[in-house]
Amino acid sequence: MSDFQRWICDACGFIYDEAKGDPDSGLAPGTRYADIPDDWQCPLCGLSKGDLRLLPDTPVKPAPPAPARQRPSAESRGSAEHLVIVGAGVAGWSVAEAVRRRDPERPILLVSACQGLVYPKPALSLALAQGKSAVDLVEADAATRAAELGIEIRTEVRVLKIDPQRKRLTTVKGAIEYGSLVLALGARQRELPIAGDAAGAVMRVNDLASYKALRERLSRGVRHVTILGAGLIGCEFADDMTTAGYQVCIIDPQAQPLFGLLPPVMARELRQRLAGKGVEWCFGTTLSRLDHAAAGLRAVLEDGAELQTDLVLSAAGLVPNTQLAAKSGLAIGKGILVDNDMCCSVADVYALGDCAEVSGQVFAFIEPIRRQAEAIAAHLAGTHERFMPLPPLVRLKTPSYPLTVCRPAANLSDAEWTPIADAPDGSYFEIRREDHIAGFAVSGRLATEAGSLYRRVRL
Ligand SMILES: Cc1cc2nc3c(=O)[nH]c(=O)nc-3n(C[C@H](O)[C@H](O)[C@H](O)COP(=O)(O)OP(=O)(O)OC[C@H]3O[C@@H](n4cnc5c(N)ncnc54)[C@H](O)[C@@H]3O)c2cc1C
Repeated sequence: MSDFQRWICDACGFIYDEAKGDPDSGLAPGTRYADIPDDWQCPLCGLSKGDLRLLPDTPVKPAPPAPARQRPSAESRGSAEHLVIVGAGVAGWSVAEAVRRRDPERPILLVSACQGLVYPKPALSLALAQGKSAVDLVEADAATRAAELGIEIRTEVRVLKIDPQRKRLTTVKGAIEYGSLVLALGARQRELPIAGDAAGAVMRVNDLASYKALRERLSRGVRHVTILGAGLIGCEFADDMTTAGYQVCIIDPQAQPLFGLLPPVMARELRQRLAGKGVEWCFGTTLSRLDHAAAGLRAVLEDGAELQTDLVLSAAGLVPNTQLAAKSGLAIGKGILVDNDMCCSVADVYALGDCAEVSGQVFAFIEPIRRQAEAIAAHLAGTHERFMPLPPLVRLKTPSYPLTVCRPAANLSDAEWTPIADAPDGSYFEIRREDHIAGFAVSGRLATEAGSLYRRVRL
């Protein structure tokens, strides 16, 4: 039995698995974490080696099937023990792992509309410049991961309805009964109202399949890309695409990138750095019309300006997938409403990840998901490990200007950012409350301080 350990980067979800190493960075399979050079950085987001955290009890070992007690099939179960998880993103897999770690025997079925491939979603906005295809990003297929965890998996099965009274799911491939249910349904990219005969050609990337479609589209003579939205994902794609040789224009109704998240000085610096790489910014407006033209597409902006482009990629924010829960009678706010045990408004149903709203917030980041999964696993085991919301650690994965920000509240005034260091090669801003740090933003060479600062943050 191997005793390899796994370490996680909370800023982006990257897992360093000692068994697999990090061959792209020259770390052979089997390289122990302790033997990694100190200057190694997370290959996804660039945080330092010391910022990764040991994952508990890893790797997960499936319980050997008991000869006299075969695992029953999903439909026949419906017992209180029987856990059904809907969704095979990081949230769905994290719950399966957390529950299995506590309970080697519980029957678990994971059902998903997608193929259930295990991959790091944050890598989607970095992969182009690295020359990585959708296939290159896959860490494991669904059947392999399910076998490792000792769970049952059904992929390409969309759940259409939940009947909480009968504890029954209606899916495109028949009914499934559950004892407990976890909704890990994710979110989708917001669709902006755009007129014109090419409005349907606007692309959005929020999963492996749409990244594959983007790569295919780019390979068909695209030179110029228009990105809608100068938020985290829009800026990351802009940096990635310019590095990969595309001309990029970003359109955003606000006046600066990552509006409301960064100290204004840092937002200006980010804008200049990307402009230096050739990114063209169109602030204070939005795309109102998109039509096919003789060559490529003709985009008309709200302020009347026009531009020629070959492809439009929308990154205008995420909308939690709440429709299934709403039509099944679960309470909905911005997301599926849950308490701090991640319990929904009806008995024996939980939700987590990008689809869930807890303490008034939807946390569309990797770090909270694992803690939410632990809260669900603890509740199922009859204990409490309630999810405590923390301000997210947001790492902008723009190699041209790396920065990390932890902003305690969205309605914060920009005047609350106090400059501690402000130089072209690196800045550090803090938000202080009485005697402690409540938030910070670091960039450039100071971005490596993010992990240690985050550990000192208190609300
Ligand atoms: C380009 C990009 C970069 C990002 N970078 C970062 C980053 O650097 N750091 C960070 O913390 N976060 C980042 N994020 C956000 C992070 O990736 C997400 O918060 C996280 O992956 C969400 O996981 P999830 O499992 O909740 O949702 P998803 O991954 O969306 O999974 C949802 C699952 O539900 C399934 N499903 C939905 N509806 C149904 C149904 N009716 N029936 C059956 N199955 C259904 C889907 O098929 C899918 O398997 C990034 C996101 C993107 C898109």
